Amino acid sequence: MENKSQPPNQINNNFIQEIIENEQKSNTSAKQLVTRFPPEPNGYLHIGHAKSISINFELAKLYNGKCHLRFDDTNPLNENPDFIESIKKDIKWLGWNWGENLFYASDYFETLFEYATKLTLDGKAYIDESSQEQIRQLRGTLNSTGTESPYRNRPINENVELLNKMRNGDFEEGSMVLRAKIDMNSGNINLRDPILYRIIKTPHFKTGTKWKIYPTYDFAHGQSDSIEKITHSICTMEFEDHRPLYDWLIENIHIHHPQQIEFARLNISYTVLSKRKLSELVEKNYVQGWDDPRMPTISGLRKRGYTPESIKNFCNKIGVAKRQNTVEIQLLEHCIREDLNKNCKRVMGIIDPVKVVITNYPENQSEKLEAINNPEQEEMGSRKIEFSREIYIESNDFMEDPPKKYFRLSPGKEVRLRYGYIIKCTKVIRDEVSNKILQIECEYDPNTKGGYAPDGRKIKGTIHWVSSSNSFETKVNLFNNLFSVEKPDEYDSIKEVINPNSMETFHNSRIENHLLKAMPGDKFQFERLGYFCVDKIDSISNLPIFNRTVTLRDSWAKIQGSTNPKISQS
Ligand code: ATP
Ligand code: MG
Repeated sequence: MENKSQPPNQINNNFIQEIIENEQKSNTSAKQLVTRFPPEPNGYLHIGHAKSISINFELAKLYNGKCHLRFDDTNPLNENPDFIESIKKDIKWLGWNWGENLFYASDYFETLFEYATKLTLDGKAYIDESSQEQIRQLRGTLNSTGTESPYRNRPINENVELLNKMRNGDFEEGSMVLRAKIDMNSGNINLRDPILYRIIKTPHFKTGTKWKIYPTYDFAHGQSDSIEKITHSICTMEFEDHRPLYDWLIENIHIHHPQQIEFARLNISYTVLSKRKLSELVEKNYVQGWDDPRMPTISGLRKRGYTPESIKNFCNKIGVAKRQNTVEIQLLEHCIREDLNKNCKRVMGIIDPVKVVITNYPENQSEKLEAINNPEQEEMGSRKIEFSREIYIESNDFMEDPPKKYFRLSPGKEVRLRYGYIIKCTKVIRDEVSNKILQIECEYDPNTKGGYAPDGRKIKGTIHWVSSSNSFETKVNLFNNLFSVEKPDEYDSIKEVINPNSMETFHNSRIENHLLKAMPGDKFQFERLGYFCVDKIDSISNLPIFNRTVTLRDSWAKIQGSTNPKISQS
């Protein structure tokens, strides 16, 4: 029974929630919790972002706070409004809503410039005319300190004047930058006079040509959080070393100080979760777009047949920690199976059909058989399927020369048709030239309606089938992992490790007529084959095309035998 006095604990293994929990306990005048999800609009969201979205929105919900959506649109070179729309769509689809709290870092450009001016006036920032290469060289390395730029001690009034001229567009791209004046000897490279502004003359999709200079991510990010009065700035571990810089900036500008908390990014085996690599897959046509069903993007997963619930459930199961890890892709697949197993209708479809003629069944006859829609959900009822002389079975459910213990169809042997009759193979007809099987002939036992022999003879195998009159021909896509190695990030190039067989299309699959009117996004279990989802309606045939979401075999549940996700440490 739910105990109302217990703290809310819907989030699994979440150290950030513990921090907030403790703060709330010790703080009587608790301020409202404000989190944010801050994507850069330079790509589509992926399942790693879903983890971040889920953390931020879930915490806001649990503690009666709010979660902002802020587009960190500080670099006009890679950003565009299409990405804005896709990001909004995906967050909503996942079931989260930012309400009125939609913001853009570009809305703060004026304020950010004021901050930069303040730092410059205070002698804490200067204009550096060194080249990019010089700046990089003088920055030093992890093992050696940096060297001060010859421009570092430029008088304040000159810095202010140059900054204003930079803003006016008086200088060429690359000719100078604004740098914070912190400490070239710092052990933390981020504090060695980081760049705050650079000249970029590309128009911005929101501010047009108004700005000729743009703040760096490091300068914009923390200040934007501060402007929005974010209480908890939750980000991934790679920003841990940037935190001293963010602290320095906020303290020297004298503005609200959000608390930054870092967690480990999500990595999943057999895929990549970096926008740079995902956009490379798209740009080099290794996949058919950001929403290709093989992509780990939210839109790809949606097209593949994933549901918002399954993704949320996955995010909940993996927990939130600081330690780097790689989650096995099987866990994600397990989460969608769990969902679809309960909620999907089961139907029959044949991916790679071979025709079977029941020679002792009259030619112009057919009959209706009863098929159960989901044996685990009685209320989903049943439907009628048609049996007739000509049916299709899966070509790999037949073997002419089978090994022992092969319980599917083979010459002289019997097999049960799911919800149908017992049939026996009497003949195989092959194409004389190609030797390909054209047709299998069988006889059915009229006394075995429903699949059981009244004489009690044992039939071990049951196969799925569709009758030719009660099925339509369409396209079905099957998928494999996008990469052929477990940790593609460890390789230099994507090309080296991309799986050439990640997608297989069958053009002549046959599906029960029951699905003729299925719409994009509709999901079904095809008995024995897996879960499938309508990708789209074919523009020529007007028939639904199917994607396989996952097979039925849950290797995750098999390995685990429990609910504890197996995570390999790296
Ligand atoms: P990439 O590094 O892949 O180019 P990014 O992480 O910088 O992209 P952003 O648009 O800046 O992309 O990400 C928005 C938010 O999502 C950030 O707060 C980031 O920390 C978080 N995020 C991105 N990738 C992951 C991931 N794999 N796991 C968890 N959170 C992530
Ligand atoms: Mg980022």
